[in-house]
Amino acid sequence: ERFEDCKFADAIMKNIQQKGYEKLTPIQKCCIPIILKKRKYDLMAHANTGSGKTAAFLLPIIDILQEWKMNNNHYSNSNSPLALILAPTRDLCQQHYEEARAFTIGTRVHVAACYGEYDIPQNLRDIRHGCDILCATSGRLLQFLSDGHIKLDKLLFFVMDEADRLLQDSFIQDIEMLHRSFAENPARKTYMFSATYNEEVQGMAKKFLNANYFFVR
Ligand code: AMP
Repeated sequence: ERFEDCKFADAIMKNIQQKGYEKLTPIQKCCIPIILKKRKYDLMAHANTGSGKTAAFLLPIIDILQEWKMNNNHYSNSNSPLALILAPTRDLCQQHYEEARAFTIGTRVHVAACYGEYDIPQNLRDIRHGCDILCATSGRLLQFLSDGHIKLDKLLFFVMDEADRLLQDSFIQDIEMLHRSFAENPARKTYMFSATYNEEVQGMAKKFLNANYFFVR
């Protein structure tokens, strides 16, 4: 019910308080415990905008990465994100970026963004400052991957927000190409969030999820 029960790192709790959140929303109550599990569970969540879905995936991922960074003291990644948050639009990508920045204040977790229309030299500098979490749209990300500016070999979390849109014709080839670059990594977990959930979305989504994924609504 309350954020205190989630046992997030102190710095993260402080950022949650700063935002004024007190109680978990229903989608957060469902998703946070699943994401915090050590075992490899994927997740498909049926959640609308306004449900608190962004915090539902960002908070537990940031908490896990904070602990990971504390235990891997010498690890500094310039271009291999540990978490990738993919959005169909620049606006949504920027929202992810801003929330992730706010939740990581005072932690060791670095957040970067990568989307079209972001000045490329500036974007590359931003990434070099650290990108444990990368908030991206697929076009710019594929460009940086093929230029070797970003590698996805260390990815632990792959989040697709507005997955119903990402699975549509206009995106699906990009997503499949991206997915191929890290599909072999056995540690990776995939989380999908979608406002619509019909048979078509379900069928497409299963290509990216492991067999025993959780479905949350
Ligand atoms: P989202 O569904 O992620 O777009 O979030 C919708 C809005 O709810 C955002 O402005 C969040 O800052 C806010 N929000 C998310 N979680 C909570 C919470 N537990 N308590 C209060 N507000 C929240």
